[in-house]
Amino acid sequence: MDFMLSEEQRAIEDGISQVMSDFGDDYWLDKDKNGGFPEDYYQAMAEGGWLGVSFPEEVGGANLGIGSAAVMMKTIASSSGAMQAASAIHMNVFGPKSIAVFGTDEQKQRWLPPIIRGEQKSAFGVTEPNAGLDTGAITTKAERTNDGYVINGRKVWTSTAQVADKILLLARTTPRDECERGIDGLSLFYADLDRDACDVREIDKMGRKSVDSNEVFIDNLKVSADDLIGEEGKGFRYILYSMNPERILIGAEAIGIGQEAIRRASNYAKERVVFGRPIGQNQSIQHPLAESWAHLEAAWMMCLKAASLYDAGESCGAEANAAKYLGSEAGFTACERAVMTHGGMGYAKEFHVERLMREVMINRIAPVSQQMVLNFLSERVLGLPKSY
Ligand SMILES: Cc1cc2nc3c(=O)[nH]c(=O)nc-3n(C[C@H](O)[C@H](O)[C@H](O)COP(=O)(O)OP(=O)(O)OC[C@H]3O[C@@H](n4cnc5c(N)ncnc54)[C@H](O)[C@@H]3O)c2cc1C
Repeated sequence: MDFMLSEEQRAIEDGISQVMSDFGDDYWLDKDKNGGFPEDYYQAMAEGGWLGVSFPEEVGGANLGIGSAAVMMKTIASSSGAMQAASAIHMNVFGPKSIAVFGTDEQKQRWLPPIIRGEQKSAFGVTEPNAGLDTGAITTKAERTNDGYVINGRKVWTSTAQVADKILLLARTTPRDECERGIDGLSLFYADLDRDACDVREIDKMGRKSVDSNEVFIDNLKVSADDLIGEEGKGFRYILYSMNPERILIGAEAIGIGQEAIRRASNYAKERVVFGRPIGQNQSIQHPLAESWAHLEAAWMMCLKAASLYDAGESCGAEANAAKYLGSEAGFTACERAVMTHGGMGYAKEFHVERLMREVMINRIAPVSQQMVLNFLSERVLGLPKSY
């Protein structure tokens, strides 16, 4: 057992911190207020070669494990960029993991290098308004034609669809009533996000304004048979493959944001003087911050444990879900405490902690809710009866 980061992981921390230092508080506050995809940041990541970290070497990627990816995403999130910076690249770096694993060599060569070079962005279209967390209930339909498929339906919360060129799309190819389980009969496509067939409408939301989320109305989207990933009907299985890594990374990102919040709160508590002494001299200010530090560290250990199991090819469902759960809770609580430490100024945008608190809320909701994580642990780890 080794609790030390490797030399490679330390180099990732240094390299990412270097990029993030060019994008400070004013940059991200402006993005939070006015939106607009952080393209210059995205291009800086591409130039540094960071968009290919998890892609195979044969297409120009670095093929690093999830442990290293978690270090990278935590470092990004523990900057002023928080979830805006993490999500701007999250979709593109880790969304297409299923292509890297289940795509043909031809598909990998066609699709992955443009992402690594920062020339193309991809959105991830799974969630639907009438299905929610019950992915087996999705109704977006892909029907066979002579040379491919035609897709009709509706997605919701599709992030980056305003700027994406491509969409990784889950659609039903076999009617639900002909399948044994809801999750059967679904297929995964990597399609052009053709604006003539996809009406993309942005959702006005609580935070992370620069990384848009959308409703997508799909009307006769034509997709070539070459753009189907793997076999028809196995799409959910392919998505499942990337779910554990994504949970680990979402946990790591929340932890990064929480650490940034605690850092800001501690600095403020040292400087702000009330009743003739720094507020940080009061234990009621110190203890919540110290406790959050401990919770964040413990959650990070769970992320690293889950990543280490995943990278060793072992099953890690329980640990990955626990990492997502613990990281998101610890991150959110740390941000809330950072706001309270700042008193009235915690509510002011110029101190940034309210922005961190709004952004870290996402990690508790997506890609899976905290309740569904607890359902999974209750059933699969504790052996309790399925509750839904
Ligand atoms: C900012 C943001 C970005 C997103 N980006 C994307 C994206 O790029 N692509 C994409 O496909 N999706 C995306 N999502 C969608 C996200 O994955 C879903 O919002 C999430 O999975 C929850 O689904 P839902 O909103 O439909 O909630 P619902 O399924 O409607 O659930 C609502 C509430 O009920 C609870 N609940 C439901 N059933 C049970 C049960 N059996 N037991 C206990 N509790 C239950 C849930 O836990 C939740 O709290 C994004 C969401 C957000 C907020």
